Amino acid sequence: MSVAFIRPNPPRLSELAAELREIEDRRMFSNFGPVNSAFEQDMIDQVFSGVGHAMTACNATIGLILAIQQAIGDRPTTTRYALMPSFTFAAAAQAALWCGLTPLFCDIDPATWAACPRDEERLLSEYGDKIAVVVPYATFGFDIDLTRYERLMAQHKVPVVVDAAASLGTVSSDGRGFGTGFSGTIVYSMHATKAFSTGEAGIVYSGDQARIDELRQMCNFGFGEARAATMPGLNGKLSEVGALLCQQQLKRFDGTMLRRSQIMARYREAFPELTFQPRRLGRQAHQFGVGLLPEGFGPRRSEFQAALTAAGIGNAAYFSPHVAQQRYFANHAIFGELPVTNDVASRVISLPMFDTMTDAELEEVVTVVRRELTALIETQSAITQWPWASMAAD
Ligand SMILES: *Cc1c(COP(=O)(O)O)cnc(C)c1O
Repeated sequence: MSVAFIRPNPPRLSELAAELREIEDRRMFSNFGPVNSAFEQDMIDQVFSGVGHAMTACNATIGLILAIQQAIGDRPTTTRYALMPSFTFAAAAQAALWCGLTPLFCDIDPATWAACPRDEERLLSEYGDKIAVVVPYATFGFDIDLTRYERLMAQHKVPVVVDAAASLGTVSSDGRGFGTGFSGTIVYSMHATKAFSTGEAGIVYSGDQARIDELRQMCNFGFGEARAATMPGLNGKLSEVGALLCQQQLKRFDGTMLRRSQIMARYREAFPELTFQPRRLGRQAHQFGVGLLPEGFGPRRSEFQAALTAAGIGNAAYFSPHVAQQRYFANHAIFGELPVTNDVASRVISLPMFDTMTDAELEEVVTVVRRELTALIETQSAITQWPWASMAAD
């Protein structure tokens, strides 16, 4: 039996003929129409406990560009850098570059794999007001400490835009959706490959109404007045058909989250040799099953991945190469040594995850990964136990 790495499962448009006909009859296809407005309100009510404000976007990358541009809008032009971790997807760094900023990468925390608080503060002190915006990543849906970022915004007078692309479905320890009430900006993705799967869509959230009002104008060509631009803008609007998919996904989302949590719990129990992110009190959304191979096994990851692939088990290694290792950013970003990022990226392995995974498929993954992990570790100890291995090193 072979098992895919991910199997996107957005709501089926082909089964939504009546809803599609309503959109057609209304002749309103975009521009924050009624389906879109209803979905935004449903998100606030059901995910964010009725707190805060939200705007959809055509995808999270455009949402990040808008959010970063809005955040730096009135900052002096001497500010130049977007401080972010390198252990993330290219989108955040690209978004900063589109806003005329240079990404400045900090290292990550070895346990959470999110931006290392100490390194972040070190760079904030070192670069001062040359840092235009801080862009943390809520790594793989992890519940990063947002009260710390509230403090950081106040202390350093710097705006914060959180890349929470994979976080829809994450519930913090207070029982509310990740990000609820945050006064900066948070951007979530609803791309087909995320836990909250549609096709292309994003949602931008803030506890601050004025911020979302301004973002909505920026998202519509910067029109602060009727068809007259008063601020930077682009077209980042989500279509009504796109909003319909989001609306339908929200209706069934609890079931999706439950299955993904079960799969992750099984991986944690079956693979004690792998290091996973710490468990938090609430619930973490899972885009795929992510763990680290034991220390020293980075150089053998590709061998491990090839064995899984040969046995029919889909897999990947997000985020390897990490952003600073990608050729374009080597010349368009600045960064120092990133020892933890390099180590985590070298050992990371992403295992299959999708909400339609059957128990038989899950057990097939467990059997194969268990077997290959044991084989990998046994051959490694054999190599290091050869007496001449240490003599050769002397
Ligand atoms: C998926 C992802 C994005 C991009 O989201 P899109 O909606 O596809 O534009 C950005 N950042 C991270 C960390 C992601 O995983």
